Amino acid sequence: MEPLTPEEIRACFVNCSKGEAKRLRLPTAYDAIRWADLDFLGWRDPAAPGTAHLVAPWRGQLTGLVLRVGNRAGHGGRKNMCAFCLTTHSSSDMDLMVAPRAGAAGRNGNTVGTYLCADLACSLYVRRLKRPARVQPEETTTTEARIARLQENLDAFVRRVVS
Ligand SMILES: [Zn+2]
Repeated sequence: MEPLTPEEIRACFVNCSKGEAKRLRLPTAYDAIRWADLDFLGWRDPAAPGTAHLVAPWRGQLTGLVLRVGNRAGHGGRKNMCAFCLTTHSSSDMDLMVAPRAGAAGRNGNTVGTYLCADLACSLYVRRLKRPARVQPEETTTTEARIARLQENLDAFVRRVVS
């Protein structure tokens, strides 16, 4: 993705108040972000472990989502596998991320939840620039195919949040 300024990031959030977007803490190592290797910028604020952030170009529009980090207990499904990049993790490296939906739906408490890499480094996992702690199932896909799959899954998730 193209490099973004802090101002662009703060201005693009669609599922939180303007005040919250203004106050949110940007990634600490901002100057070290390798934008060219990212399909989306995802980060956690160590001071606010219950919150995560995701910013992605989505259908020509920069779109930022606030995610609430949910409780893993009691949820079924494929919770060892990231829904975006399909990396498998032990449960400590995986979190249930819940996005309030944009607009009136979100104000009424509607959310979209999914299991994602806890560090939101999906872009680096699919490019093999970061190794997950766990040995991965054998896969014969190319880097390009894994990137395309990540972008598709990301697109579908953002669509569910904003529409
Ligand atoms: Zn992932």
